[in-house]
Amino acid sequence: MDIQQQIKTLSEELRQHNHNYYVLDKPTISDYEFDIKLKQLKELEAQFPEFAEEDSPTQRVGGEITKNFETVVHEHRMYSLENSYSKEDLLDWEIRIKKLIDDPVQYTCELKYDGASISITYEHGILLKAVTRGDGTQGDNVTANVKTIKSVPLKLKGNYPPKFDIRGEIVLPFEGFNKMNEDRIEIGEEPYRNPRNTASGSLKLQDSAEVAKRPLECLLYTIIGTNLGIKTQFESLERARQLGFKVPSAATLATSMDAVLEFIDYWNVHRHALPYETDGVVIKVNDLQQQEELGYTAKAPRWAMAYKFKADQVSTRLNEITYQVGRTGAITPVANLEPVELAGTTVKRASLHNADQINKLDIRVGDEVFVEKGGEIIPKIIAVDLTKRLENSKPTPYITHCPECQTPLVRTEGEAQHYCPNYNGCKPQIIGRIQHFISRKAMDIEGLGGETVALLVNEGLIHDYSDLYELTKEQVIPLERMAEKSAENLIKGIELSKQIPFERVLYALGIRYVGETVAKKLAKHYKSMDALAKATIIDLATVDEIGIKIAESVVAFFASEKNQIIMERLKRFGVQLELSSDQLANQTDTLKGQIFVVSGVFETLSRDELKQLIENNGGKVSSSISAKTSFIIAGDNMGPSKRQKAEQLNILIINEYDFLQKIK
Ligand code: AMP
Ligand code: ZN
Repeated sequence: MDIQQQIKTLSEELRQHNHNYYVLDKPTISDYEFDIKLKQLKELEAQFPEFAEEDSPTQRVGGEITKNFETVVHEHRMYSLENSYSKEDLLDWEIRIKKLIDDPVQYTCELKYDGASISITYEHGILLKAVTRGDGTQGDNVTANVKTIKSVPLKLKGNYPPKFDIRGEIVLPFEGFNKMNEDRIEIGEEPYRNPRNTASGSLKLQDSAEVAKRPLECLLYTIIGTNLGIKTQFESLERARQLGFKVPSAATLATSMDAVLEFIDYWNVHRHALPYETDGVVIKVNDLQQQEELGYTAKAPRWAMAYKFKADQVSTRLNEITYQVGRTGAITPVANLEPVELAGTTVKRASLHNADQINKLDIRVGDEVFVEKGGEIIPKIIAVDLTKRLENSKPTPYITHCPECQTPLVRTEGEAQHYCPNYNGCKPQIIGRIQHFISRKAMDIEGLGGETVALLVNEGLIHDYSDLYELTKEQVIPLERMAEKSAENLIKGIELSKQIPFERVLYALGIRYVGETVAKKLAKHYKSMDALAKATIIDLATVDEIGIKIAESVVAFFASEKNQIIMERLKRFGVQLELSSDQLANQTDTLKGQIFVVSGVFETLSRDELKQLIENNGGKVSSSISAKTSFIIAGDNMGPSKRQKAEQLNILIINEYDFLQKIK
């Protein structure tokens, strides 16, 4: 291939990867691979500038503006960072600096947080707007979403500059990420792949209330503005901290490049203990005056450098591929590996996600594979070492039948996962469903654990969750590790679960896509299991926030004769299959069709009580003011920007007493 063609192909490839990553949030190669390719392109372009494309991926930060969010031009451009991968790269950088600066240079060393970059503007101590990086010149206004992040102050205290921008990174800590995935798996959704894409995807969600539920964090790294009285980057960090922003404590001041290298060595190892993902270190010339002298290239400051950690990678042998069957029947292939040390833990297994992933990797039993530990807790296989492939190896055929019950698997168009359709006869599905039924957020049956459920099913004592209510103490005592007392507690726990309110019973049934929130909505709308069971798809889809996918799933659930029998049994045993009279008594339609925004602090009611009252009377609560808002209920300390917006849109502001009058 000639050089010009090579540059063109590489540019196109990188553009596609940029699109996958920034616009679709679905990268198909690792960052490391991407960076290597970008570097290749950069080198080629430097050698043959006549062939460089005008809009080459090396010339721009990457990322198109996504529609629906207002586009905002950055007052101060959001630059990218130059990347380095070795100590030599850093020493070269130092030489370039020394050519331009005579005085001694100090550096700040910070961690490079891996999330979505954000620029937040404060005016008179109030959060005015938050904008994504976008293409560096203009980004999306995601203020409503960023405001839901608890660590971002909405109002500053003390001595703050009248106007400034603060830059940072929005990240999703591992713990919250894993929690979110557990919840998704619970309702039969596919888990998110990694924290970074989930964080940036969250910022683009339409509903800020959904964002609020996500445990995002915002880590800040610089203040920008005029007349701030800040002389160094290190001071900038300290100032941000004083103003109440979250600035990780790892940042240090280095008086020499040696000290920088020490910082890198330390965090290369210790970063694995951090609660969130980092992909490198950012080194910045500390003195702002010197920064100004160094200036910028077309896309990055000359005074800063990112040092990228190599993702920890090892190679090991794939011994076997096994298949797990989840509660919803979803099949997950698992790579069983020759145990190997990686980033301080022993790795034995890696998820292979689905059939497409196996095809893409062309992974075969006996292969040497490269395992990488990136942001995910579960390590992933990134490639096969083809040089070591055994001669007689054959492509992996995906299983066609359920490994547990031998039923032929199905794969619905548009879905990545294969499913075992044997809903009523497949053991792991039966056990998983009952385990979900008894779980804390569902029927919360004390004295009964997941293992005991498996035992009960395997002993043939129960076949579905309704059978729990017919269990006797005498039946359970003979079970392994059961004593008189624990058997009593188990039966008591089951008895007590008959008090669990309808909405949680509905969640407990384990209908696919019916999570806690959806269960609540359905319970409120239909008020009883009988009414819900009779609902048609069209009927369901007209309920607020219930999509066609959920509607179809609900209808399919109740269409099953087996489920109808189970519902009959639950009713007979006294499980709550309708809203209680208390819940019903407080429900009216008075506020039907009206949308409320609640702002400030109230005298007689808590905000939650107020919201409950709105919902009980058929109204809707929204977190942000729009043209659709009917009323704003304002307490003390209503935010000035909210007030301004309300006035602009001509929306009536009422107080809590006006509101109580309305629902009388
Ligand atoms: P890149 O996306 O590789 O061009 O790197 C630039 C991005 O790194 C910036 O837009 C920031 O969002 C992010 N970043 C993370 N941590 C830091 C930090 N400590 N200082 C500066 N930028 C950071
Ligand atoms: Zn099966």
